[in-house]
Amino acid sequence: MIEQRVAAIKEKSPAVELINLGIGDISLPLAPLIAQAICQAAEEMTSPAGRHGYGPHEGFPFLREAIAEVEYPHLGIEPDEIFISEGINRDIVQIHELFHPHARIAIPDPTYPAYFDTLAMAGKGPRIERLACTATSHYLPEPCQHHFDLIYLCFPNNPTGVGMSRNQLANWVSYAHAHQAVLLCDRAYKAFTTSPDVPLSIYEIEGAAECAIEFCSFSKSAGFTGLRCGYTVVPNALHGRCGRRRVSLRSLWDRRQATQTNGVSYPIQRGALAALSSEGLRQTRAQVATYLQTAKILREGLERLGYTCAGGLDSPYIWWRIDPASSWEFFDRLLEECHLVCVPGRGFGALGEGHVRLSAFTTPDVANRALERIAFSMASLTEMPDR
Ligand code: PLP
Repeated sequence: MIEQRVAAIKEKSPAVELINLGIGDISLPLAPLIAQAICQAAEEMTSPAGRHGYGPHEGFPFLREAIAEVEYPHLGIEPDEIFISEGINRDIVQIHELFHPHARIAIPDPTYPAYFDTLAMAGKGPRIERLACTATSHYLPEPCQHHFDLIYLCFPNNPTGVGMSRNQLANWVSYAHAHQAVLLCDRAYKAFTTSPDVPLSIYEIEGAAECAIEFCSFSKSAGFTGLRCGYTVVPNALHGRCGRRRVSLRSLWDRRQATQTNGVSYPIQRGALAALSSEGLRQTRAQVATYLQTAKILREGLERLGYTCAGGLDSPYIWWRIDPASSWEFFDRLLEECHLVCVPGRGFGALGEGHVRLSAFTTPDVANRALERIAFSMASLTEMPDR
């Protein structure tokens, strides 16, 4: 729907310069060190000694070991608990297959829409309850009183941009222990975390290894959206039940992956390894810093104009409150009057209404120009009809 509306305005006014703050994709070029490592690995494969056919379904040891060392120092996560994938989207939308078809599932509202959509496609819609994340709860879900088996937690969140503090995560870990539930933690934006109280991993919380699976991606942290690489951590300590039998979820996931994937290509895993080297981290962190600087400009600029926003501190997304407007109506106004593209909050769940998401996957200069346009059109933007 967004693409159609954007295409319509381009057709109506071809000379117009649109600013796209709707993109959930990286905008900076690939870090040179990663490109070199990928090219070198492909070159290596041209010699008989460097031949690589199918790789291990769980990922090459060199990458699993580097992730354990760089991403989980002192957290006790071992390489055999880390499963390399071609980005985490597929893992996070398919993980429910390990669990009973009648498992009760909780999903924050608003959040990344792929969880709900794939579960609904799998016929599990009636098993899902939405956890309200509204301005009143600072866009965070409160642990609830009744029982769920699986809880999706996407923090720092897409779209609200809000991170979850140590205490809040600890509450969820306690809930999971009390209910024998499993937390499915989407950490696609963990590289953007800046608040000292927002943990980089759920495993920083005591007891999390017995109740949480963590999904991490190189997509946004190292510019891999077009290369595809991520990883899922399923700790050895995590067990489910099949009748009276305790079942290792790590073994189940390993078995499933052995059947359903033939691994991620060798050059891409070499590129991911380069991203974890000290020079790779320096290059990719500089990119993340640029996105965060842009997020700060957007958020502070909107606040200076008198608007209310969340996010932008631990994530590249700004959650702009436009109460009481319909988010699609606001989207249309922003497009027509400012030639600015955003994402209507309604696309992330019913409680996304009254908000739009702006993305900082652009440059500070573009963000400043977007703010100038918003400031210029402010009077008409804020005169939204009540509903
Ligand atoms: N999870 C969230 C919250 C996302 O926003 C995205 C992509 O935008 C993904 C997962 C997908 O990540 P990947 O590119 O690793 O498949």
